[in-house]
This record gives sequence, C-alpha cells and structure tokens, in this order.
Amino acid sequence: MEYQFSREFAQQCDREDPLRKFREAFIFPKHHSGNCLYFTGNSLGLQPKAVKRYLDEELEDWANFGVEGHTDSRRPWLPYHEFFSESLAKLAGGKPSEVVCMGSLTTNLHLLMVSFFRPVGKRTKILCEAKAFPSDQYALKSQLRFHGLDNSHLIEVAPREGAATLNEDDILDAIAKHGDTIAMLMMGGVNYYTGQVFDMAKITAAAKAKGIVVGWDLAHGMGNVPLSLHDWGVDFAAWCSYKYLNAGPGAVAGIFVHETHHNQSDIPRFEGWWGHDKATRFAMPETFVPIPTAEAWQLSNAPVLSMAPLRASLDIFDQTNFSELQEKTRKLAGYLEFVLETISKEERAAFSLITPKNWAARSCQVSVHTGQYGKGLFDALTARGVIADWREPNVIRMAPVPLYNSFEDIYQFGITLKEALQHV
Ligand SMILES: *Cc1c(COP(=O)(O)O)cnc(C)c1O
Repeated sequence: MEYQFSREFAQQCDREDPLRKFREAFIFPKHHSGNCLYFTGNSLGLQPKAVKRYLDEELEDWANFGVEGHTDSRRPWLPYHEFFSESLAKLAGGKPSEVVCMGSLTTNLHLLMVSFFRPVGKRTKILCEAKAFPSDQYALKSQLRFHGLDNSHLIEVAPREGAATLNEDDILDAIAKHGDTIAMLMMGGVNYYTGQVFDMAKITAAAKAKGIVVGWDLAHGMGNVPLSLHDWGVDFAAWCSYKYLNAGPGAVAGIFVHETHHNQSDIPRFEGWWGHDKATRFAMPETFVPIPTAEAWQLSNAPVLSMAPLRASLDIFDQTNFSELQEKTRKLAGYLEFVLETISKEERAAFSLITPKNWAARSCQVSVHTGQYGKGLFDALTARGVIADWREPNVIRMAPVPLYNSFEDIYQFGITLKEALQHV
C-alpha cells in the first residue's frame, strides 16, 4: 500500500480500520506533555476498562460469600481457571484440554521441563537461540545443572557475522547436524529483542523428525501472532499474560501441553492437588491421579484476583480473530517503518530496522537502531510522551498493538520524533 506521512492519511486509515472500536476498551496512561503515545504493549499491555469491574465482582463475591464463593459466586473459584481455556485455546491454536491458565512464565517453564527435558544416553543437549531472554537462559542452564550437565550441553544458534537476526537455515542445520544428541529444543517463538518471528511449524517438524522434544516460549507470541500449536505437533509451550494479553503486571501465565502427553503414567511431573482428578480431589487420597488434560500440571488453586483481569482482556480477543489482527498489525507496523524511513531520510539520520523485512518473520514489534543518535534521542522522545523501550547499546523497541494503537498514534509519533531530533 502507498503510505503517506500526513494526519489526513492516518485518520483515513483509522476510519477504515475494522478494529478501531477496541481502542475505546483500553485506558491510556497520562503524560504531563499531554501527548501519550504508548508503544510498549510488548512489555506491559494496557489495562482494559473492564478490568475494574471484573476485579470488583470478585471482591464483592469474596465479601458476600466468604469461602462459599468457591462454589456459589458468579464465577465459582473452584473451576475458575476453566473459564479461560476456550479463549486461550483459540489464541494458542490448541484444544481447550491442552491449555491451562496457571502460575508464572519462568516457573511454568521449569515445571514443563521437569516433564519434557529428559536427557538420556547420548541424547542430552538443549537447542536454543543465542541471546535468549535472560530468564530463559537461566532456566535452561539450571535445568542442565539439575541433571548434572554443564553448559557445553547447550547448543545456541547465533545470528551470522554482521546480522541482527537468526538465519532459520542455521537452526535447521543444527537440528540436522546435532539432532541425535539433542533432547529438547526450547526457543522463543518471537524474539523479544529483534521481533523476529520464527517459522514454528517448520522448526517443530524438523526437530520432531529427529526425535527431539519441542517447546516454545511464547512470551512475545501469545496474542501477537497466529499459533497452531496442536497441528504443528508442539509438545509444550508457555507464555505470560502481561504483554500482549493485557492482563496486568505479573499476571497469571499459561501453558500448552499437547494431548499426546495427557494421561501418560510414565511422565515425570512435579505434582500438586490442583492437578489431581477433580472427582476425588477433596477426598484427599494418598495417591495422585492426574486430570487427563494439561490441568494435570497445575499445582495450586486458582489465584482468582490475579486472573480476573485476564478474563476482561480475553473478552476483547474473543470478539476478533487473527486474520483481522494480523492484517492491522502489518499495516500499522508497516506505517511505523515508513514513518521512520521517511524521517531518517529527511533528517539524515541513519536509522535502520533490525526487525526482519519479510512479513512472515515479523509481527507488530519494530526494533530500530538509532544510528548516530543514542539514548539521548530515546530520552527526548520519552520527555515528549512516547512510551517505548530502550535496549543497550542503541536500539529502541516499539510495538504498535492492533487492538489499541491507531494510525494517528504513528503519525503523531513521527511529528514527535522530528521535534525530538531538533533537541538532541
Ligand atoms: C517477558 C519474558 C519473560 C519473563 O518471565 P517471567 O517469568 O514472566 O518474569 C521470560 N522469557 C521471555 C522470552 C520473555 O519475553
């Protein structure tokens, strides 16, 4: 499409945007400049207006019912996590029985690796991407140590010399070359730094063909890119809910476990009473009988107050679908890229995108190298109400989110950027 750097053009795109009504469902932070351009939905999604009502209802039900709220409240707390499965299954591309809302991301990764990282014989290695999000690196390395293995068992695929993003062929080559010694592949489906989206279907298929167990960290994938975890044959996945799922700081996370692993008696797992068969849970039998779904991985009863905001956000996702979301994602991120390129030319700034150019390998995140400008430019933007994210040494990450960002936000960002450049 032919983009133009003008307010009229941006407003016209907003008028034609089938998702525009959802912007009204979110609360934008206020900034003293009067300008608030929020582009950090990849770090903390905005608060849906309905969150307050959902939370109030739980507080009222707790006040009115006390312990009986477990069974008698509007959304009974006993099965509370079940009220999320349909919506999460749609986003994950799995069956409702394959997903559970529970725990926190890094905790869940560990719980899942107890089941899915089982080094035996010469198959002892983990394949991951170099410079994975630090928490994932810590989790992987501590899992290795837990099994008495050192870091030489971690195969990290790095970008080629001079490249910012990974060449997918290098991942496939590593699978082909080291496949027989790899126990598990665990990668971020969408790279948090560059925004690169991996071909999860292809990588999963290649790894499975070599007998490798496959897990994806979808912290930046869930609610951002279309997923088909079931059909791709992914063994397990985990995500957090405070980024693109807009469920608030530290919100309860979620997992996917493929149904081929349900009801398996030989799978190692750290167990708790909320994973035990619902029919006999309160009889408190001595022997654990797993629920025949991904719920078997739950340990504790649902943290209702931390989950209620996610329900408000999923109600919004339920009213849309990924073909609409993705279409806007591309148009919006493409507009941001166009505005950055236009201004870079006009101002002789050497901005360059480190996000891949190919739409199959990117989502709404745009990571830009600020050329001759460093943190000073980022600070000048922040002072003018642009909420973006700075990454050392010289990268600004921005994620215009299709549910609540507008084309006019991008235009206004361009105006603000031009002004900020006069002051650095
Ligand atoms: C955001 C993010 C995390 C954060 O982990 P928490 O356990 O939720 O604090 C972990 N891994 C990746 C890839 C992330 O993007």
